[in-house]
Amino acid sequence: MSQAMIEIENLQKWYGDQPVLRGLNLSVAAGEKVVVLGPSGSGKSTLIRAINGLEPHQAGTIRVDGQDLSASGREGAGARRASGMVFQAFNLFPHLTVLENCVLAPMRVLGLSRAEARDRAMTLLERVRIAGHADKYPVQLSGGQQQRAAIARALAMAPKVMLFDEPTSALDPEMVGEVLEVMRGLAASGMTMIVVTHEMGFARDVADRVIFMDEGKILEAGPPARFFEDPREARTRAFLGQLR
Ligand code: ADP
Ligand code: MG
Repeated sequence: MSQAMIEIENLQKWYGDQPVLRGLNLSVAAGEKVVVLGPSGSGKSTLIRAINGLEPHQAGTIRVDGQDLSASGREGAGARRASGMVFQAFNLFPHLTVLENCVLAPMRVLGLSRAEARDRAMTLLERVRIAGHADKYPVQLSGGQQQRAAIARALAMAPKVMLFDEPTSALDPEMVGEVLEVMRGLAASGMTMIVVTHEMGFARDVADRVIFMDEGKILEAGPPARFFEDPREARTRAFLGQLR
């Protein structure tokens, strides 16, 4: 049996006494593309931040690439490093050039030499078609360019899984396409991906599975054709109805 790339069992998280993730189970196969939908406040960001090790959880387990995220030492660090994250607000370091943004963590965390990190970064910046802007600062770039640079920065850590939290929601409409195109290319390359997005075209074309979250749980999941044509749950139908 092939091992799941992500294995989440009975994940529970509270903020204070407010339950945010209520016993969530999710298994994602290597190479699988999962799109996460759900109303605001349903726990989508909390879930993918938890997978990335940015949010501690109070119960349940998260394994990434076979390693327990809550383990101490090398195992926990390995699990956290196994995923790369792309945020809605880009989150590039503003005082560093695009290239410096991409070489910093590979040098500090992975121990690459500057030359190695630079070669790797430039290859990735070419892949997201932004190599010509490598020596600019984030503020000198458009939102679409910044988000493509942020994708390159995450890829520079050679993650096994890429997590996206509404990566196009902060963009002007004319820049959404260029970011989705980079994400489609990444999907075609075989990357395991979990994407929170309201871009239904992307979900239909790229997702192997669409997951609908509601009140900290997965209410419904299925392949996009089935999910969009024949949603089983009333809350899913109501949500999809609002998007149209
Ligand atoms: P979504 O991404 O689906 O909109 P979130 O994961 O951001 O949902 O939030 C889920 C719930 O957790 C919401 O009720 C939100 O108010 C709450 N929440 C999120 N982050 C925090 C935080 N840092 N402190 C307290 N409550 C939070
Ligand atoms: Mg969110």
